[in-house]
Amino acid sequence: MHIVTISSEVAPFSKTGGLGDVAGALPVAYEKAGHQSTVITPLYRQVRESAGRVGLKLEDAGEGILRVPMNDGEEVAGLVKGRLPGSDVTVYFLENDYFFDRSGLYVDPKTGEDYRDNSERFIFLSRGAVAAYMQLGLEADVLHSHDWQAGLVPAYHKHLYAEEFAGVISVFTVHNIAFPGIFARWDMRFTGLPHELFNWHQLEFFGNLCLLKAGLVNADGITTVSKQYAREIQTEAFGMKMEGIIRERSDDLRGIVNGVDYAVWNPETDEMIPANFSAEDPGGKSLCKAELQKRFALPVEDETPLVGMIGRLVHQKGYDLVLEQLEGIMKSGLQMVLLGEGDPQLRKKLARAAGKYPEKFAVKVDFDEKTAHLIEAGADMFLMPSRYEPCGLNQLFSMKYGTVPLVSDTGGLADTVKGYANHGEKATGFVFKPDSAKDMVEALNKALNVYNKNSDMWRRMMQNGMREDWSWDRSASEYLDFFREKLQMVP
Ligand code: ADP
Repeated sequence: MHIVTISSEVAPFSKTGGLGDVAGALPVAYEKAGHQSTVITPLYRQVRESAGRVGLKLEDAGEGILRVPMNDGEEVAGLVKGRLPGSDVTVYFLENDYFFDRSGLYVDPKTGEDYRDNSERFIFLSRGAVAAYMQLGLEADVLHSHDWQAGLVPAYHKHLYAEEFAGVISVFTVHNIAFPGIFARWDMRFTGLPHELFNWHQLEFFGNLCLLKAGLVNADGITTVSKQYAREIQTEAFGMKMEGIIRERSDDLRGIVNGVDYAVWNPETDEMIPANFSAEDPGGKSLCKAELQKRFALPVEDETPLVGMIGRLVHQKGYDLVLEQLEGIMKSGLQMVLLGEGDPQLRKKLARAAGKYPEKFAVKVDFDEKTAHLIEAGADMFLMPSRYEPCGLNQLFSMKYGTVPLVSDTGGLADTVKGYANHGEKATGFVFKPDSAKDMVEALNKALNVYNKNSDMWRRMMQNGMREDWSWDRSASEYLDFFREKLQMVP
């Protein structure tokens, strides 16, 4: 097969979250599985800035000016070529400095607000990707587009270029339904799609234009990033008012858990941590723990259980539940470290808590990969009290680093962590009810109990996690199976 991936972020060139990781790794896994794989993404300022650091050589694709129909006229783009590291996957970057040469990807860092022309910018990405596809004569079997930013690709595939795309299927992946890409109705004019498509079976969502919906209703196949999340988004509690649309398409929906890039996240080879270790030889972990305690200015005590947390400081991640129960938690004889950035209110509350418990609770407000690696390596437990979590990556990293995850029973967390209560000897972590501070504390106490009183069982849980395989190869083969099924249905 030839799979063309269209994504608004591709790690290591551009990334704000899990989407970048997926779009940087999955196309390489397709290629490793013996398929042809191509990526189309914007040429942001960040891509140029990261090029030297990640060994990206940018060269003109030799296609001249690409004309992209927009808003009754056209925009133009340059086509710049590069390669995903460690692979032969070609990446085509759409170059339009007016849209993409900015200090942020979606949000202006100066104001903290979304760029006002985000609809135009990412309609340009979808339309530009299709234009590039045609000009380059790519001849794919699968157009795989991600999230609202590339949500129009399946609409163009179905409504504007049905003839050109005969025999090609479109697959759309939703990474987080809480980001639907909703814009004013008059932005419909940028799309170049017939105005008849502005109706509630298609691109309209309560009177507005919804780019995620464009992908959901028009793609031949839809995937999301875990089986449990695929079920959850069909319910009112998680569907963000999109549940009806998704239920209607449930036969074409598949949940596939993200993979981990073990070239980056592996305690045996990780160069960002002070000592390497493995399931067979875990000795280095206590060195990492000591270093972690030092970095967060906590007392260096090997026997004190250390709980790590990493994530965006937003309501979704449930860190407020920890604050709600902090007094009790701090009495249970542990240390806690948290790395994250986000909501200023939450930041203030966390800083206050750290001030109150300087020997036990430490917070670093930053986006810092090195510290993230040190937390995964040095902590004994990793806490993720998410209210919802489409996939989640940190629980997968944690397992690999022998850091026992404590997670809420939702989305990808539910799919990937085997709770002690149900799995006993085979457990890899502890699972508790989402959005319940009380259940979270109970799970934490259970974990502390095993850690303190049953070191054999604790070691077994660490090893169970370290021996699991959550590599991209495994996810890629599920995607490829899904593509094959959908291709068979093409007339
Ligand atoms: P989400 O996509 O909802 O943010 P995921 O768990 O799927 O959550 O992915 C988040 C990724 O970003 C993980 O690789 C995580 O380690 C990383 N990350 C989040 N916050 C930080 C931070 N402050 N510093 C370093 N890495 C971070």
